[in-house]
Amino acid sequence: MADIAIVGGGVVGCATAFWLHRLRPQLRLILLEAGALADGASGRNAGFILPGASADFLKDCSRYGETRARRLWQFTRENRTLLVRELDPTAFDWEDSGALIVAGSAEEEKRLQEAVSWLRSDGAPAIFLSAAEINRRLRARGYRGGLYLPEGGCLDPVALVRYLADRSEALVLTHHPVLALEPCGDGVRLETPYGSVRAGQVLLALNAYLPRLLPETAAYVRPVRAQMLATEPAGRRWVPCPVYSHDGFFYLRQLADGTLLLGGARHLHLEEEVGYEDATTEALQADLERYLHAYFPQTEGLRIQCRWSGTMGFSPDGLPVVDQVPGLEGSYWAAGFTGHGMGYGFRMGRLLAELLLGYTPDGYDLFARSHRSAFALERFG
Ligand SMILES: Cc1cc2nc3c(=O)[nH]c(=O)nc-3n(C[C@H](O)[C@H](O)[C@H](O)COP(=O)(O)OP(=O)(O)OC[C@H]3O[C@@H](n4cnc5c(N)ncnc54)[C@H](O)[C@@H]3O)c2cc1C
Repeated sequence: MADIAIVGGGVVGCATAFWLHRLRPQLRLILLEAGALADGASGRNAGFILPGASADFLKDCSRYGETRARRLWQFTRENRTLLVRELDPTAFDWEDSGALIVAGSAEEEKRLQEAVSWLRSDGAPAIFLSAAEINRRLRARGYRGGLYLPEGGCLDPVALVRYLADRSEALVLTHHPVLALEPCGDGVRLETPYGSVRAGQVLLALNAYLPRLLPETAAYVRPVRAQMLATEPAGRRWVPCPVYSHDGFFYLRQLADGTLLLGGARHLHLEEEVGYEDATTEALQADLERYLHAYFPQTEGLRIQCRWSGTMGFSPDGLPVVDQVPGLEGSYWAAGFTGHGMGYGFRMGRLLAELLLGYTPDGYDLFARSHRSAFALERFG
């Protein structure tokens, strides 16, 4: 019997296991994952570590109110600080490059410029760069102005997840999907195709897949697909840091060998990109290529080496949701990271570990389902 079972081997599950071990080394932890570690969104993402719910402070203010937006930025900035302070950043290729948030419209450009003084008043460094400066730095053409956030960065998400699982010293059972949960004595029995596992408490870190195990959570998280592509190595590096443009609907980075990773274009195909189907589509991939060639004409002859998709969990208001598992005292679920789980994940793992240990952690009210006002399904974005 384990003290705590963690279900889901993505960044959130593995970060929670890491913090549980850090806070109570004597706990017996078991981590159950349906596939391999990082098989879900955590192993397919761009690895951007950005602040806030949207990396756009004034947009976060208009959506969540100024006080909450400031706290969200503080929480996600802590995520980045903890990643580099508590872990060995070389284990997951952390690039301390900063990040560029580039406007896709005149309105967005104005908003990003206005955000500088707000961010600086909270101690968050931010520099507004003109269109000319951004195009010069990226050797690109056609970008508008935007923000350089020195605290942004990027990493190898698969390496991070494996490293966290390893450091947690949990018993990791991959290829063990949890099919059902049953209250049992003081704890819970988790059914898998190979038998059952007993634990005192459970954390469900399943993001998009949570409603498949707990159908009542379908009101709080729904599956949304994201697609990416990678070019062959360009041999030269034009893009020195992650670029998040057009309200985050396009995101691009370049690896050391010149390989360009590009994702997004979901806003051009909103309806098709809802659901669990794990496949790329020609139409969206063509939009990604159009973007790449428009802003970086020098990439025109580069072959596309790889295309892939991943399933994200979106919440109705765009923020992660945390709640108790119904009928299981002391057990929790966390989902709905809405395309930003790397920006929250490691810090969220600490919050969830503290919750499982019986504390009321700092920041819990930001994400608790019980603290949310009107959750309306039609607001799914
Ligand atoms: C293409 C793409 C690009 C992205 N880019 C970024 C980015 O640059 N920055 C950023 O912050 N975010 C990004 N995201 C979002 C980010 O990847 C997610 O928010 C984050 O990985 C969610 O982590 P998680 O641990 O909650 O979920 P997941 O990584 O989805 O983990 C859930 C795990 O649960 C497992 N599972 C499912 N059902 C069961 C079951 N019944 N039993 C056991 N295990 C089960 C799955 O196999 C999976 O491994 C991107 C997402 C995608 C798809």
